[in-house]
Amino acid sequence: MKYTFRRGIHPEDNKKLSESCPFEEMPTGSKVYIPLSQHIGAPCTACVEPGAMVKAGTLIGLSNGYVSANVHSSVSGKVLGFEMRENAQGRKLRHIVIENDGLYEEENLPPLENPTKEQIILRCKEAGIVGMGGATFPTHVKLEAKNKINIFIVNGSECEPYITTDYRMMLNFPKEIMEGIGYIKTALQANEVAIGIEANKPDAIAAMTKELTDPDTHVYELKTKYPQGGEKQLIYAITKMKVPDGGLPSEVGAVVLNISTVYALWQAVKLGKPCYSRYMTVSGEGIKRPCNLHVRIGVPLSEITEYLGVNEGYVKAVFGGPMMGFSLASFKPVTSKGSSALLLLSKKEIRPIEPTPCINCGRCASVCPMNLMPMMTDRLILKDMIAEAKKFNPMSCIECGCCAYVCPAKRPLVQSQRLAKKLIRERKI
Ligand code: SF4
Ligand code: SF4
Repeated sequence: MKYTFRRGIHPEDNKKLSESCPFEEMPTGSKVYIPLSQHIGAPCTACVEPGAMVKAGTLIGLSNGYVSANVHSSVSGKVLGFEMRENAQGRKLRHIVIENDGLYEEENLPPLENPTKEQIILRCKEAGIVGMGGATFPTHVKLEAKNKINIFIVNGSECEPYITTDYRMMLNFPKEIMEGIGYIKTALQANEVAIGIEANKPDAIAAMTKELTDPDTHVYELKTKYPQGGEKQLIYAITKMKVPDGGLPSEVGAVVLNISTVYALWQAVKLGKPCYSRYMTVSGEGIKRPCNLHVRIGVPLSEITEYLGVNEGYVKAVFGGPMMGFSLASFKPVTSKGSSALLLLSKKEIRPIEPTPCINCGRCASVCPMNLMPMMTDRLILKDMIAEAKKFNPMSCIECGCCAYVCPAKRPLVQSQRLAKKLIRERKI
């Protein structure tokens, strides 16, 4: 039996380009630019001055609030100063510029042996761990859930096309991931653990199953369907529990973390390594050498495209997956904790967007995993009828893009949902 949720779509997964590529180390250039905000929540405050000498792992940005996450240097060298730079979403953020001395000396935290719940949560805060699937929600907040957590769900579905990072991590580091799962189970005091992996990754299912030792931890084979890795969809697929509208998974006694996050937490506890590097996929027909990279935080994307080579004629660059990622206006943004993928797509990999009027076919509603009616929001937003649009519940939209993917009129349905959310908030409707 394959576990799944209701509705959703089956896009081409295009994982072939990079799924067989083992991780390789991305060389780091002479300078890194480390954003003080790489997470959802309050930006960090810089705690180093220009001229300071740092190591990889030195705390350089101090968390400024409960929903926030510390930032560490990713190289050893000298702090040159501060720069305002755009991130992939076009937001101007303060970055710390560090001259890389090329020595990669480290300043780690002390490793923890048999850590307690409190030690694990504290370590998660100290190390600046956030949701590394792209959501970048500070992980310690999830670990400190007020409700009793019955089930910890490990998201190994990696349902976005092209991305093969978590897949390669499950093949390369199954023992480490399983140990990390144990730490998180302790932190949450969860009764059981479910590791959900899509059926299109049979070798990852086998690798993780082989490492099972805890009788309360199980691997679930999920149907290959998008967005299987959506938090609410995954919880429903495995437990048949529905997270209430506007509610958190903890309200139904569940917490979900993805594979990269579990691994980052394992490194923080076992090795004392703060979160200053990550694994990511670089793919698409526009890249000469698609691959899976280990990159330090703060590396300009231009250095990655130079390193791997660009094919002439690519037409679109995307930061993240093709369904939920952001189109890039330039390669100036840098790698950060949430950088799961960089895609360079050729003309034949994208669908030109020339919207025509809605033909009321209802396909968008028939695939929406949140059971919404995106065509109604789209229609009402165009007429500035925000209060009426709110009745169709755009606030519940998870911006998965299924509706836009199937729309024959190529309506910008996700953008309409985003705009509706923004206007509802701004006008306090
Ligand atoms: S309306 Fe939102 S949740 Fe529904 S399919 Fe569209 S993007 Fe996904
Ligand atoms: S899929 Fe597109 S054309 Fe069909 S109802 Fe939805 S918005 Fe209209």
